[in-house]
Amino acid sequence: MIDIKNVSKWYGSFQVLTDCTTRIQKGEVVVVCGPSGSGKSTLIKTVNALEPIQKGDIVIDGQSVTAAGTNLPKLRARVGMVFQHFELFPHLSVTENLTLAQIKVLGRSKDDALTRGLKMLDRVGLSAHKDKFPGQLSGGQQQRVAIARALSMDPIVMLFDEPTSALDPEMVGEVLDVMVQLANEGMTMMCVTHEMGFAKKVSHRVIFMDAGKIVEDCSKDDFFGKPDERSPRAKDFLSKIL
Ligand code: ADP
Ligand code: MG
Repeated sequence: MIDIKNVSKWYGSFQVLTDCTTRIQKGEVVVVCGPSGSGKSTLIKTVNALEPIQKGDIVIDGQSVTAAGTNLPKLRARVGMVFQHFELFPHLSVTENLTLAQIKVLGRSKDDALTRGLKMLDRVGLSAHKDKFPGQLSGGQQQRVAIARALSMDPIVMLFDEPTSALDPEMVGEVLDVMVQLANEGMTMMCVTHEMGFAKKVSHRVIFMDAGKIVEDCSKDDFFGKPDERSPRAKDFLSKIL
């Protein structure tokens, strides 16, 4: 579903990603972890070409995101992305947040968009809040709306970049619950997160990054169960967060 092939990227003269290669299969849940500044956010942003790359290629569902002529808005519409900071439009109601891109990008009718949006809002347990504005919701609720908004676009894959790290601790669980549910329903997911409970529960694979490189790419069972086979950097990381 996502093929990341020998991706390198520079910010000016600073190389932020070095020869990153991995492949995410349909229905697979992959957790990306690693120390701060290791390039996790940059890597996940390259997947839907929010950040350009200078070397390598990324193919989503058979379509290269780097090839000239690729319709990026169309491709991005199928790749759901949820960031650390809930990026809802503050001046739009929950319902309007849910329907805007469906109408503007997918060309759905207002009625279709509303039906689909409300169904996804129900899925994240927030139907009662449909007429509120983001500012009237808790952080956890806003993040669940952001997930519902992404799901309303019928994504073929969902990308998450530390979706719970800006939340008060008591709200982390409600967002993770939605992500667990999605994973169990077979959604293809690439999740940057330090929630190792989530990784242990639902991920299939763990990627560990350090200094712009993928230094571990192994099954969840190997990552957590065979620490002696891990690189020193990953072992050190694990010893600090587990
Ligand atoms: P992570 O998500 O793992 O914390 P990032 O991908 O955000 O790491 O950042 C990786 C490195 O790239 C860091 O050293 C960061 O300072 C640098 N970086 C990130 N964004 C930019 C940018 N727009 N311009 C220059 N350097 C950047
Ligand atoms: Mg980051």
